[in-house]
Amino acid sequence: MLPTVGVLALQGDVREHLWALERLGVPTCLVRLPEDLEGIGGLVIPGGESTTIGRLAERFGVLGPLRAALLAGLPTLATCAGMILVAGSVVEGDQPLLGVLDILVRRNAFGRQNESFEMDLEVKGLEQPFRGVFIRAPWVEKVGADVEVLARVGKHPVMVRSGTVMAASFHPELTGDSRIHRLWLQGGEG
Ligand code: GLN
Repeated sequence: MLPTVGVLALQGDVREHLWALERLGVPTCLVRLPEDLEGIGGLVIPGGESTTIGRLAERFGVLGPLRAALLAGLPTLATCAGMILVAGSVVEGDQPLLGVLDILVRRNAFGRQNESFEMDLEVKGLEQPFRGVFIRAPWVEKVGADVEVLARVGKHPVMVRSGTVMAASFHPELTGDSRIHRLWLQGGEG
């Protein structure tokens, strides 16, 4: 049986991740409170606004339990704002982070809303290019020694993995193409 995958549902594009997982036949549930983490086999942290998601996670008392679960090895897929939340640090500003992935990220690195764009990406582990949808997306400025880069735009990493955490600065849930979710579910074996 497939483990249930929880989607952090505080703010952001929760539904689109649920649909992407459901297309793969994966049982899903919503995560808002610490007790929602019990019994899930994986977690998705969606895109949205990382400051809002982080502050709500603090207010719901779920930030610490989330951090503990990720550090204990809960397989996690973090997209866009989610990538910011899992990061160790952010170039500017002060916001609640989970700090479980050894990357430095720059928020809105490609520009503001009107500089949102799409492009085909070469993703390690996928045979065909993946359409990356970038919406006020971050990029990774610096990666730690144990972080593997799975995709780049120019010289900037936009998809990385370390241990059980995979993070993408684009929105794989918005394309109708579940290959990134599948890659994550398979532990990156392709
Ligand atoms: N710019 C947003 C942030 O900093 C992320 C955008 C997104 O998730 N599409 O949190």
